[in-house]
Amino acid sequence: MGKKKILVLQFRHETNSFCPALSDGAAFRNLEFDMGEDAFSAHRGSGTEMGAFLDVLEGREDIELIPVAALTANPAGPVTEDVYLYVLENLQAAMLKHSPIDGVLLCLHGAMVAQKHPDGEGDLLEDIRRYAGWDIPVVATLDLHANVTEKMAHCATALIPYERYPHTDSYETGRVAAQLFADALDGKITPVTVYRRVPYLLPLFPDAEPPMCRIYAFAAELKERYHLMELRFTHGFFLSDIEEMGMAVLAVSDGDENAANAAAEELAALIRESIPDLKRHYPDLEDVLDEAEHSPDTPFVIADASDNPGAGGFGDTTHILRRILERGMQGAVIATIVDAESVERCIEAGVGAFISLKIGGKSDASFSGGPLAVSGYIKRITDGTYTVTAQMDHGSKMRHGKTVLLEVEGNAVILSSYPRQPWDLGIFTSHGIMPEQQKILVTKSAIHYRAAYGTIAKKMVAVALPGYSTPVPDGIPFQHLKG
Ligand SMILES: [Zn+2]
Repeated sequence: MGKKKILVLQFRHETNSFCPALSDGAAFRNLEFDMGEDAFSAHRGSGTEMGAFLDVLEGREDIELIPVAALTANPAGPVTEDVYLYVLENLQAAMLKHSPIDGVLLCLHGAMVAQKHPDGEGDLLEDIRRYAGWDIPVVATLDLHANVTEKMAHCATALIPYERYPHTDSYETGRVAAQLFADALDGKITPVTVYRRVPYLLPLFPDAEPPMCRIYAFAAELKERYHLMELRFTHGFFLSDIEEMGMAVLAVSDGDENAANAAAEELAALIRESIPDLKRHYPDLEDVLDEAEHSPDTPFVIADASDNPGAGGFGDTTHILRRILERGMQGAVIATIVDAESVERCIEAGVGAFISLKIGGKSDASFSGGPLAVSGYIKRITDGTYTVTAQMDHGSKMRHGKTVLLEVEGNAVILSSYPRQPWDLGIFTSHGIMPEQQKILVTKSAIHYRAAYGTIAKKMVAVALPGYSTPVPDGIPFQHLKG
């Protein structure tokens, strides 16, 4: 008997429909745009979902794994049609070339919006069914911030989202999905997926804080009580602005639809009941700076949640740095201010030069706080690349583009070239900064920074200032949302 032919595709994008920068081919090439075998070699042995897929399945002699592609772009505006259709056409070509295929294993985000495909993943999964039929397992991992639509749930055999925020379980989620996929492929199980949407727009919310932690504990209890394979839920991503947004429960049973329905209903009910407590309060920036300035608890971390390049922020707003300088504060490290133009000017001037610049604030006049005039000493220039040592995506490369470490009035400002969420401590160590010895660390992140920074920080506070990645849905002019 011939080998079972399995197509593997990673196509990840978290789309912030309010962000005016489209996610085009260059945006994907900037982070990850690998076709064919390159898709596997980039992930083999890494702590990503794709790395887990390979760890689980690559040793099997009865399976032929066929890599289609691995694409990821930084969260930003909608994916351009040319990129979206390019991936779909390559997937279709692979399905036809290797027909009949025996299964498809995917690493998706779940909040992708392409210019003409608001339900990016739903349309992709539907396309797979159109070409490869309904008799094969089609399993996908999802980010916790997926907007799971009816179509996605209908077309997939199973959808397995992360459970942790920060997403420290990406590898583990990949293993769960690959094992479930393999068991379905082998006929050991008959997965039945039940889907319940809870159309509540959840602010960015860590998994460990109440009441969220209680919802996770209840899910684990229900999973056991109803003998389910998986019982998970997604948090949704309201900045996508599509019709079907919000939270969703996904129950996977081995053949027992009634059990999956009962568990999904009970979990959805608890989420609905918890909504009054699933809110976030963000403190005033001046209060936070007052506290940070005098706090004996160092490092004191201030997270700029609304300018998070991990959710569609440009990473160049100047609100916090401006106030730090105006207040005459010292001992802060700012990671980062995205400003490719200023980086180039610093590189021309060279290490050791004293330079006057207008940094950041160039992306959008209404949100950014405008460029900030500073004078400083260029201490270091780097290629902006380091290997992630945090648990999330452990071992992968983080690329900020060329960076400059600028000393400004007793503070250190890291200027970078691309918007990237600096959630790994490598952003400091790669610039010769020992983060645990600093007074104040300012980062452009909403929640993810807490995993790595939490190992050294004495205090961590997030603020919600003007920006494209506001962590709360209140006041956002949604255009497509339906309740
Ligand atoms: Zn996420």
